Amino acid sequence: MQRILRHTLIFAIVSITSFTAPVSAFTHNTRESSSRSSNLNSEKVQQRQLASSQRGVCGTEEPTTQLKDAHKRLSLREYRHAEGSIDGNASRATADSLPRIEVDTWFHVVSTSEKVGLVTNTMIASQFLYLQQAYQNSSIHYNLIGVDRSINDTWARNGDSAAMKRTLRKGSYSALNVYFQTDLEVSDASGASSRRNGHHHHHIQNLDKRDVLSSQNLLGFCTLPNPEITSSSSIDDYFNDGCNILASTMPGGSIEHYNRGGTTVHEVGHWHGLLHTFQDQTCAPGANGDYISDTPQQSVPTEGCPASKDSCSDLPGMDAIWNFMDYSSDDCYRSFTVEQASRMRSMWATMREGK
Ligand SMILES: [Zn+2]
Repeated sequence: MQRILRHTLIFAIVSITSFTAPVSAFTHNTRESSSRSSNLNSEKVQQRQLASSQRGVCGTEEPTTQLKDAHKRLSLREYRHAEGSIDGNASRATADSLPRIEVDTWFHVVSTSEKVGLVTNTMIASQFLYLQQAYQNSSIHYNLIGVDRSINDTWARNGDSAAMKRTLRKGSYSALNVYFQTDLEVSDASGASSRRNGHHHHHIQNLDKRDVLSSQNLLGFCTLPNPEITSSSSIDDYFNDGCNILASTMPGGSIEHYNRGGTTVHEVGHWHGLLHTFQDQTCAPGANGDYISDTPQQSVPTEGCPASKDSCSDLPGMDAIWNFMDYSSDDCYRSFTVEQASRMRSMWATMREGK
């Protein structure tokens, strides 16, 4: 077991160094034409999904009052960059001046017996590289300590998730555990926020109709930090902590436009305490939104990758469609803002470090 695990890790490291990154976090790909033919049945499924999954009411768990209070408190305390513009991205200079945060990280690949070959070692290495790159400007570094693989038809669709996490979870509350599941479905697991793919259903390959219908195409969800956890908390208080990701969103996965690894980056953003850029979905002046001042107020989640969007046109700034905490497709994803970076860092210091 130990040997297998070590072998996997070495493979991952070799793959990362020799990987000619088609998944660069900071490259903006031209949008592919989506005018390809699709069959009518799939279109019907798509329309039904859009109607029933209600984009406006996404599966995201609302942050607790305690977490919102933490956001308010931290936003007052944080150093505000003089040059932080309304659409300024976290810059290289910012990262260089910040001490590096090191996050112990475990990847758990959970497959059905049928899809046991779905997640390749190359996909794992590419996903880790993309995660690393995406958080580089926040000076958050992930140490991939372990990769394990499980074959379990129930766990792969997130059934009996408590047993899965009690068995697989590693490290303390400051350790990031990511579960890549081949058949992820909505479960009764609370404390989760999710990213859904409300469209492009006709592009999905390698998924049968039952998967699409029953899972409502759930891409992932993750726990937000729990302010009640302390350094003396027991694992029983936080075994559920971590991120659940549909494995086919990994780089090289089957979901077109959502297969560059952006879902993992988005969900890990929640793990660091970030909320959606469209939080509260309102243009009301003075609304708290995501408690981040350099993400323009946004009332509607972005779908796909439009050229531009401005859901609160009377307020400053266009929608940050390139932001990892929007719902845009992976093609659009580019970065976090300066203030999101500093919020993740202060959340780390208060919520997870040393716990
Ligand atoms: Zn989300």
